Parts: sequence; structure tokens; C-alpha cells
Amino acid sequence: MSELKDKLFYDHKNVYDVVDENEVAKINDYAVGYMDFLRNAKTEREAVSEGIKMAQAQGFVPYTMGMEVVPGGKYYYNNRGKALYLFIIGSESMENGIRISAAHVDSPRLDLKQVPLYEAAEMSFFKTHYYGGIKKYQWTAIPLALHGVIYKKDGSRVDVAIGEKDDDPVFYINDLLPHLGKDQMQKKLGEAFSGEDLNLLIGSEPVKGEESDAVKLKVMMLLNEMYGITEADFLSAELSAVPAGNPKYIGFDRSLICAYGHDDRVCAYPAMTALFENPNPTHTLMAILADKEEIGSEGNTGMKCEVFTDIMQELAKSTGANYHIVKENSKCLSADVNAAFDPNFAECYEKKNSSHVNHGVVMTKFTGARGKSGSSDASAEYVSFVRSVFDKYDVVWQTGELGKVDQGGGGTVAAYIAQKNIDTIDLGVAVISMHAPYEVIAKADVYMAHKAFSAFNK
Ligand code: MN
Ligand code: MN
Repeated sequence: MSELKDKLFYDHKNVYDVVDENEVAKINDYAVGYMDFLRNAKTEREAVSEGIKMAQAQGFVPYTMGMEVVPGGKYYYNNRGKALYLFIIGSESMENGIRISAAHVDSPRLDLKQVPLYEAAEMSFFKTHYYGGIKKYQWTAIPLALHGVIYKKDGSRVDVAIGEKDDDPVFYINDLLPHLGKDQMQKKLGEAFSGEDLNLLIGSEPVKGEESDAVKLKVMMLLNEMYGITEADFLSAELSAVPAGNPKYIGFDRSLICAYGHDDRVCAYPAMTALFENPNPTHTLMAILADKEEIGSEGNTGMKCEVFTDIMQELAKSTGANYHIVKENSKCLSADVNAAFDPNFAECYEKKNSSHVNHGVVMTKFTGARGKSGSSDASAEYVSFVRSVFDKYDVVWQTGELGKVDQGGGGTVAAYIAQKNIDTIDLGVAVISMHAPYEVIAKADVYMAHKAFSAFNK
């Protein structure tokens, strides 16, 4: 590039073209910690308990609503085991605003129905109802694990995580062999599999001599032996089928990571590590791991729940700050992923305004669909603020719109935080094959996400 172009043109850069060897080593180290987190956090419940463990190791203590807080105090609020609020009280007045990084820890998956168990053709299955936006065909013919909780009739709780260890069995959704796929192959991609086809294969051995439902009975006997449950206990269970197996590097250079649920653990993890890195902040800092983002942030564990503002209100009260001024001056990074430009589907992206893997953390000024509908659309003033922070701390970053105009769209928690009178913008990591059973991110980008949240917290 000529000097004049260098001065006058804008172009984002590949992280590896910008950083030195020392920082490449940090990128590699950071990926190891992130992959450990992924291994242990496949559901929102698991992510929350991992988050609590990490926070406790850093000296965070449980917060109860209305509790007295002190500057330098480190707290976590566990909302029903499914959403987590971590915060450190700053040295200056809370009226200067809280710095909030808000990610989510639920991911698309297949939830079991409330009466899931049945037998057909001497095989036993679980009925599922998918959670979040999935391409159904992608979830067939791959090994699946089962994670979740069951509350038994007596109210006692059983935790389930089966399909991850080397000697664990896995579960499976049948697909049709190509030899008999003539009719199926004529169907549209979105119609080749219906939701009611996503049945989980869980057994085939009958109880000897039993005339009907002999395979179902065998499975139920095993479940009773393993977990002490009866079929009725599924009524008060939350069990999810998720892709089995551990995260892996992709590529000879190991520059990419393949895993289930990058969306949005790839932002939740750096939101936490950035908080841990700054134990004595001037601003009060908050990291949020929300639930239910994939189904609209609903419910009492989603970002729309008033627990968020209840906590802020109580923190303001405890430090003698005016709650409305606290909100007015607070700033938020809605920590969520964007769609990475994929040359294999170039026609769905507008290249100049798409995020690219290895080009650093992605700032998304607006999301939404059909003319920005459903987006909170951050102001130029706020973009200017965040931009200057990133430049000051050498964060490699880029902007990204989610695909071409009118190609589709999506939303994040940004709108629900912005509506509380808080400046909010989306910031996160570019993902390839988002919402597929195994998604792909670049380890340079998750490291830059950490650096971005750290810079924002300073
Ligand atoms: Mn997301
Ligand atoms: Mn998502």
C-alpha cells in the first residue's frame, strides 16, 4: 500500500500481521484455558458452575440481594444456577457508571420432551424439541451426549452428563441411507427433516420374555439403576442432547478451534477473564453470563429478567449512588458472536462489511433484520468511545454486519440492555458455521476479545 493510501484508506488487518512473537505466545496460551472451559461447560448450568468455580478461585464471594458492598469487593450472583452476574465494586463513585460485559451461555441443542421415552421397531428413543435456531439435518448421524438435571418425585436432584468420557455410550439421531434417499433428496434442505424426526436412539436390547415395550423396559431399568428414576421423573427434568466430544484445533497450524457452543462461550469466557485481570478497578465492573438468549432472552434467567436492574439498583443503594445516574453513565459491551465471512458462501455476505477470522474482535454497531428491525443500533458517539479505548490498548478489531442486507439477520441481548438507558454495542468473535453442532473460531480472535473486554474495563 502506498503511503498516501495507508494514511487515507481504512482496512482491518490480520492479527498475525500486527502482533509480535510475544503476543502470539499469549494467543496460544489463552486458547488452552478457553478449551478447558469449553470441555466443562456444555450447557448454561455447567457454564454457570464453571464460572462460579473460576470466580471463587479469584476470591469472589456470593452476593445476596440487598447485601452491603464495599469498594474492591468481588461478588457473584447465581440466578437459579442458569445465569451468573459477576461484579467488582470500583474505587470511584458508581455514579460514574458500571462497565458491563454481557454474554450468554445457552447454545442451540435438542431438549428432551417431558414424556420422551418410547419404543418403535424394537428400538428405544427419546422425543426431542429443539432449542434455538438449528439446521436440523446437521444434528443427525453424529454422536450426541446427554446433559442436564432430573428432579425425582421426592424432590432430590440428579445431575446427568453422559457421552463425554471415552468409555461412555453416546446417543444418535438416525438418517436415511442414500440408497433409499430418492424422495428425501428431492425435498428442500429445511424440510428434509422435521422437528418430530429428531428422535434420539437410546437402546435396542429387550427384556427377555417381555411381550411389549421390552426395549423401553430395559432402558427404564437401566435408568432406574443408574439414576434412581422412574419414567414420571422426566416430567421434572431438563435434559439436553448436545454434540459429544471435546474441542479440537483445526488445521495444520492449529490456528482455529472446533467445538460445540462457541456461541456464546467464546465471549463469556473472555468477559470473565478480563474481569479477573482487573481486581482493583476504578469503575465498578460487571460480567454477565445470561441464559435463554437463543430463544429471545425470555424468562427469569434471560437478559430481559429484572434481576439485572434489581442488582444494579441494590448496588447503587449500598454505595449511596443515585440509581438513575448509575444507569445513565453505565456502558455495556453486549458480548456476542458475529458471522465470519466464508468464501464457500460468499454470495450471502457483503465482504467489506463482514467480519473475518483472525482479524480480531468484531464490533457490530447494529444487528436486526429487514432495515435494522429489532436492533438497538449503537450511536456514533458510543462507537467513537469504544474505538478510542481499543486504539489506546492495541486491541486488533474490525466491524462486522451479519451478512448481506435482507439476507437474514439476528439479534442479541444488546437491545434489552440498551432499553435500560445504558450505552450498548455488540462486541464478540467471528464464527464459522454458527449454530452447527461444531462451530469454528480463530484463537487469535478469542484472545483479542479478552484484550478488548480488558481495555473496556480500564
Ligand atoms: Mn449468541
Ligand atoms: Mn446464537
